[in-house]
Amino acid sequence: MDDIAKLKKLIDEAKNIVFFGGAGVSTESGIKDFRSKDGLYNLKSKYGRPYEEMLSHTFFMSHTDTFYEFYRDFMINKSAKPNAAHKYLANLEKRKNLTIITQNIDGLHQEAGSKNVLELHGSIHRNYCMRCNEFYSLSDIEKMDNVPICPHCGGIIKPDVVLYEEGLDQEVLKASVDAIEKADLIIIAGTSLSVYPAAGLIYYYRGSNIVIINKDHLPLTRNVALEINAPVGETFKKLENGI
Ligand code: ZN
Repeated sequence: MDDIAKLKKLIDEAKNIVFFGGAGVSTESGIKDFRSKDGLYNLKSKYGRPYEEMLSHTFFMSHTDTFYEFYRDFMINKSAKPNAAHKYLANLEKRKNLTIITQNIDGLHQEAGSKNVLELHGSIHRNYCMRCNEFYSLSDIEKMDNVPICPHCGGIIKPDVVLYEEGLDQEVLKASVDAIEKADLIIIAGTSLSVYPAAGLIYYYRGSNIVIINKDHLPLTRNVALEINAPVGETFKKLENGI
């Protein structure tokens, strides 16, 4: 049996599935990842500071203007569209108990139609006034000046994305642990599992079926049922087409 047939069988036989995804799930939608050879952190910064540092809470608070220039340039990608992986998972949710746990902030799973999505690192689609907590959508802040200011109270609006030095949302974390503990199949896709605490979540998995779909080999200390070293979207496209 080839890898795609094995993947299909594992999905068909599973009752509770967790899809745990990272940046590699969205690269085929045109969104840059962070750590790969061509990733954002390996680009020369336009702003004289490493991009990784610019995604920290300290940088946001101390250089809000530069943060937003960078954020608007690199983090908001309006032309990105869901790829075959996002679409397959949206359909899968209609016939399986599926929880998507994503490290991505692009909202592409929801755009594809998925409902049960836990966003560990937040979303560019939600923004909050730091003073009065008023909610703003992405299109709201796109209409505002570089540093978006709350029209109600004059406070600075911050994207609801988890920056370095910030904690993860406890409810999202708890729901992720619950889903992973109940899962009989976990598909780990497009992630190097190098960002904690997100990466540590997979150790709550108690089942025996771990699938990895990632361009590069992922060394896990657990038994892996199936590892496919290929782009995530391409793999789901093959699965959709049954080849
Ligand atoms: Zn406000």
